[in-house]
Amino acid sequence: MKYDVIIIGAGPGGIFSAYELIQKKPELKVAIFEAGHALEKRKCPIDGDKIKTCIACKSCSIMSGFGGAGAFSDGKYNITNDFGGTLYEYIGKKPALELMQYVDEINMRFGGEGTKLYSTAGTKFKTICIQNDLHLLDASVRHLGTDINYVVLENLYAYLKDKVEFFFDTYVDSVGILKDGYEVKCKDSVYECTKCIVSVGRSGSKWMEKVCKELDINTKSNRVDIGVRVELPATVFAHLTDELYESKIVYRTEKYGDKVRTFCMNPKGAVVNENTNGIITVNGHSYEDPARQTENTNFALLVAKHFSEPFKDSNGYGESIAKLSNMLGGGVIVQRFGDLIRGRRSTPSRIEESFITPTLNATPGDLSLVLPKRILDGIIEMIYALDKVAPGTANEDTLLYGVEVKFYNMEVEVDDKLETCHKGMYIIGDGSGITHSLSHASASGVHVARNIVE
Ligand SMILES: Cc1cc2nc3c(=O)[nH]c(=O)nc-3n(C[C@H](O)[C@H](O)[C@H](O)COP(=O)(O)OP(=O)(O)OC[C@H]3O[C@@H](n4cnc5c(N)ncnc54)[C@H](O)[C@@H]3O)c2cc1C
Repeated sequence: MKYDVIIIGAGPGGIFSAYELIQKKPELKVAIFEAGHALEKRKCPIDGDKIKTCIACKSCSIMSGFGGAGAFSDGKYNITNDFGGTLYEYIGKKPALELMQYVDEINMRFGGEGTKLYSTAGTKFKTICIQNDLHLLDASVRHLGTDINYVVLENLYAYLKDKVEFFFDTYVDSVGILKDGYEVKCKDSVYECTKCIVSVGRSGSKWMEKVCKELDINTKSNRVDIGVRVELPATVFAHLTDELYESKIVYRTEKYGDKVRTFCMNPKGAVVNENTNGIITVNGHSYEDPARQTENTNFALLVAKHFSEPFKDSNGYGESIAKLSNMLGGGVIVQRFGDLIRGRRSTPSRIEESFITPTLNATPGDLSLVLPKRILDGIIEMIYALDKVAPGTANEDTLLYGVEVKFYNMEVEVDDKLETCHKGMYIIGDGSGITHSLSHASASGVHVARNIVE
């Protein structure tokens, strides 16, 4: 079976490559291979009742399937070069922003219309932050919410399904180089194509490493972000979240000069488990629908670590810390900020007596036994710094869930077309280590599609 273009992975990167290809050249024969399920079959078995924690399904419905890792995300679509990836380093700042805006317009046409676009431009909070040694990054943020994000994906699939051939539950084992194209090998079949777009995301990180080794594509190690997810009453951050929705704030610690940043803010949201290659970490999301909102806001506080010599395995370091929390807590650990400062563990009764109701059923414990001192000190310093712009952040009852780890794929060597040293083979999205967000991953998909068509 021969295609003009084969796309591996149906996350935002893969979806928007396919969309743009058939938009610009409808006669192209395009196929998408996806290890996970079709959208309607994606269902995480955790129901909080019979199944309370991750049972490590063969294909994780949170991370894999049509929509990729973003399908049940909060759908925060950040239009910025300040975070979410370094696509601009390859294609330029202006083109990167234009592509993100282009994808935003498509999302609006496919069901996102009416959702709010927040912006940091001209906000008074920039000044308030800087007066307190905190730095608010620039961004426009479209908040689709988990519910509308799903509707957009449903509509995109309905539009694409007759124009592109989808192979779900089809794990690609390897990619081989042919004289005039590529062969994509799955369990029982081999498919050929002239151009191959690889968009396997975070869940495909180990596979990506293997393919790069086999095909002699250079890579370099990336950073890992380690920290906690903070949960507090929504009112504490309401003045910021009502106006900005998501505020990305960076702080440089006095003690070590490390940068700590807020990440993935979910006003009136819920804290959730995340399973990356069998390791349980924490994440968060929120709904646009007021009926599904909670009393709490959550966000991550992360410290970036980058190793180069002699130790290079930044992800391995992050995994070891996450495994330690899984060993001590059987999954995610939760601790009150007051308990952490007093040097004592949180217990079920201490959590119960607190004034905040946790939105995730995590094990009460002691995060100081899990997180390295340098990282924990940085987080504590940042909580006190945030307390100055959002009083109440450093309250006794503020909940800290650990650990939150943001793994990044190793960065692959590609050119300004995101093409590898092999002509016609492109690596995009989070799988390339270049993007780490819905907007950058989608934009990278449009970028390669346009290059292929040209
Ligand atoms: C819980 C959660 C919440 C998030 N919230 C946000 C948010 O609000 N805003 C934001 O910007 N980002 C968010 N993110 C990150 C965002 O989802 C990713 O940056 C984005 O999905 C990356 O897109 P991608 O297409 O590169 O990869 P992915 O979305 O990871 O898609 C890759 C796909 O490739 C498939 N695949 C992997 N290997 C193979 C193989 N060998 N064969 C076939 N298929 C394969 C996978 O099954 C997967 O479906 C969130 C992530 C999670 C997990």
